[in-house]
Amino acid sequence: MQTLTIIGGGLAGCEAAYQAAQGGAKVRLFEMRPKVSTKIHQTDDLAELVCSNSLKSNALDKASGLLKWEMRRLDSLIIAAADASSVRFGVIHKNIFLNSPSVLRPTFQSQIRDDLFFAGQLTGVEGYVESAAAGLMAGINAARVLAGEDARVFPRETVLGSLAHYITCADAKHFQPMNSNWALLPPLEARESGKKWKKEEKPPLYVERGQRALEGFVTA
Ligand SMILES: Cc1cc2nc3c(=O)[nH]c(=O)nc-3n(C[C@H](O)[C@H](O)[C@H](O)COP(=O)(O)OP(=O)(O)OC[C@H]3O[C@@H](n4cnc5c(N)ncnc54)[C@H](O)[C@@H]3O)c2cc1C
Repeated sequence: MQTLTIIGGGLAGCEAAYQAAQGGAKVRLFEMRPKVSTKIHQTDDLAELVCSNSLKSNALDKASGLLKWEMRRLDSLIIAAADASSVRFGVIHKNIFLNSPSVLRPTFQSQIRDDLFFAGQLTGVEGYVESAAAGLMAGINAARVLAGEDARVFPRETVLGSLAHYITCADAKHFQPMNSNWALLPPLEARESGKKWKKEEKPPLYVERGQRALEGFVTA
């Protein structure tokens, strides 16, 4: 059996390794620490949280809450670990990232190599959960490609799919990292009456639509 090689045991790398292994792939995970460390990463642990901050709320009135629901539904290792511990709210920091709209597909594959995947903040998603989410999608798809199947694009209506869509379809010239938020999702269908949705009416509709889309995707 071919082996999937993952470089970097951060949030994305660990989630990708777990998902690919769950999908039947043989996985090798390379982490440079403790041999080589950075100013930010202080430990020799895998999936290190770089400060004592937050994976944000689970409440479904925010896109980050729906993203975590979607990841739990897909058996996320990082969210299971987070659920078993407790971290506090924090802020997002600037990082190095690819110009993903020019180099990546929404399956997290390179545009020029089917067997080369990128994940995590390197792809232009921002935040702990978003980085793990990118690893989850890349890991699931890497295992599929190794098994001779097509990589799948996650539904646009899910927060997972909306992040994948954003990083690969945004304007390449002005591309900037993004965390999960409702604005990345496709607009809601208009009411029959034509009356506009109020801001506070939208989150439950996004949640219901996203959960339905993910169920359809998982069971397809
Ligand atoms: C100070 C700070 C505070 C932050 N606070 C928050 C917060 O409160 N909430 C939040 O959501 N986000 C926060 N972030 C952002 C968050 O840390 C990142 O989005 C997230 O960690 C990215 O995950 P990742 O797996 O993509 O990358 P990383 O977690 O950076 O993991 C990359 C891994 O790859 C390894 N590696 C790199 N190069 C190589 C190589 N060539 N070979 C082998 N291994 C390699 C590294 O050692 C590391 O373990 C913060 C960031 C910083 C810097």
